[in-house]
Amino acid sequence: MRLLNSRARQRVGEIRLTRQQYEAIRNEVLQKAPLETGGVVIGQVAPSGRDFDVVAVTGPGPNAIHERYHCSIDADYAQLHMRALSEDKRNVPAADWHSHPAGLRVPSGPDQAAMAQLEADGYALRAHLIATVDTEGFHLDGFIKRLGCKIEPARIVFVEPDPHALFQRLRGLAGVDTLVKREVMIVGAGSGNSLVVDGLVRAGVASFSLVDQDVVSTPNLVRGIFEARDVGRLKTEVLRDRILSINPRAHVATFSHTIQEKQDALEIAAESADLIICGTDSQDANHSVNRLALKAGKPAAYGAALPEAYGGDFVLALPGQACYACVMSAISTPESAPGAPQPRGINYASGAAAALPPQPALGVNVSILAGVFTKLCLDFLMAGTGPSKGNVLFYGIEPKPPFTDSFQTIWQEVLRKPGCPACMTDDEFAARQGERPHGVPASLAEIIRSAKPKARIVPLDAA
Ligand SMILES: [Zn+2]
Ligand SMILES: [Zn+2]
Repeated sequence: MRLLNSRARQRVGEIRLTRQQYEAIRNEVLQKAPLETGGVVIGQVAPSGRDFDVVAVTGPGPNAIHERYHCSIDADYAQLHMRALSEDKRNVPAADWHSHPAGLRVPSGPDQAAMAQLEADGYALRAHLIATVDTEGFHLDGFIKRLGCKIEPARIVFVEPDPHALFQRLRGLAGVDTLVKREVMIVGAGSGNSLVVDGLVRAGVASFSLVDQDVVSTPNLVRGIFEARDVGRLKTEVLRDRILSINPRAHVATFSHTIQEKQDALEIAAESADLIICGTDSQDANHSVNRLALKAGKPAAYGAALPEAYGGDFVLALPGQACYACVMSAISTPESAPGAPQPRGINYASGAAAALPPQPALGVNVSILAGVFTKLCLDFLMAGTGPSKGNVLFYGIEPKPPFTDSFQTIWQEVLRKPGCPACMTDDEFAARQGERPHGVPASLAEIIRSAKPKARIVPLDAA
């Protein structure tokens, strides 16, 4: 017996979790600080009897109460998760996690009492994670209490795929190596952008910030990456989990609110991004992204589907060149440059604040458009420059106006519009002082005519 004990003491117990679970805790703690937050850790006691394998980590749930030194998690929410995992009888909610915003990195008195409640609850082992944030950053400390033993510190161990093997099949592709250093900000986590994110992470992009306020609903399941088990969850969190389930070493920040809210935090995220990728269903939101990109001096890519996703349009707005507002005003004006495509069905000119009603579209059409968009974004991230053919791409899947053929590309080069209200330079602003506030610059028609449309047809297989 003595021998067994001394052997058992040779190593501390381990709490094994994925980067994805770790990031979920970290994200929740950072969002709620300085208030306390927590959740349930569902997992299995490892065959060793000393270690705990984490299967799932829950958040606090929507009806949790967060206070400075206390958090009551939403019991209904926690039970929903536990029921979902109860099929595997080895899964036990034998662990919990919570934050100590005040910085205490060991279990408090009440924590120790809760962990000691082993015998009564019938668990062979209870695991406990304490998350703290101090000047050195975020910490996650693990503790294990087994029957008849004292509470002992446990080692946090990450289980993850072999990082060397992960991108093996990309090795040798020109430019791909640089993607691991690229950071993208994703605005809109709907069906199209969910596929873009999936494509980016599989290509090696490893830093994301995700902005979307929406939750997954059942109609979302026919397009994008969403699954039935995601219904009711925030799209940002589903996408974060997706990213980390492919590349557990990726960094993901989530902003589960609109692009108009919490500007300070979004500006910081935008400043560190190499590309802002926008796929929202609202012109208002797109123009907010435009303002954010201009303020941060960052390139932004905009993707939108035409009705029924028979085609789409893509805009790459680089600093100092035509911004999103420049492009929209050029391609929406009736006296557009000759040859400029005039897609029907989407009213660019309206500047309508309201989001478009969800359009019926086949998932495969959305996937094709998302693939085109992903490719444009990846090419930019690898090269650091836009396509030579233009800054606006119309891509037609079906031969409906403005497309005359299936799988057709139409490129356009839209020039920066001097005096554009969104990207006006200081000089232009100074020159416009004294102009009538509602005066349309006389040169507008000229500017549009000078937009040099590069409309041309390029077969996809030749591209
Ligand atoms: Zn505590
Ligand atoms: Zn502009």
